[in-house]
Amino acid sequence: MLFGETGLDYHFDYPIELQKKYFIEQIKLANKYDLPIIIHARESHEDVKRILTQFPAKKGGIMHCYSGPIEMVDNFIEIGYYIGIGGPVTRYEDIQKIVKKIPINKIVIETDAPVLPPLPFEKHARNESSYLKYIISKIAEIKQITFEDVVTYTTQNAYKIYNIK
Ligand SMILES: [Zn+2]
Repeated sequence: MLFGETGLDYHFDYPIELQKKYFIEQIKLANKYDLPIIIHARESHEDVKRILTQFPAKKGGIMHCYSGPIEMVDNFIEIGYYIGIGGPVTRYEDIQKIVKKIPINKIVIETDAPVLPPLPFEKHARNESSYLKYIISKIAEIKQITFEDVVTYTTQNAYKIYNIK
């Protein structure tokens, strides 16, 4: 089980102070129920880091669909987060650089279906879980390991974070 998505989204015009307040409340709830949290961060990474440092989620979690900033990815790993990689890794060099930089034992794969399909599908096509293989192939290519290795590592990572035995 997991708690989320929660986090901060500054892309849209939602009231920031209210978002921070509920983000903190949701971290506390996740801690109360011993669950990892899934973080949605958009144009808000400094504040997300500040809050996660000040109000640590004791089970850690996942930075979902991480697309940067690349300089901050180590900070999130240090404070106990896995990095969620989805379809955009097949399209954007920025995200390919992030994947290159972080260890495979900190990556989890995600769909974000029905949005964010990988190549070769169009950007606004309907995404689905069977397309994960395109994301895995891209990560294998970037990391220069086999498809099966990516599957094995990222499955282990998911088992760890979701506490699946
Ligand atoms: Zn999200």
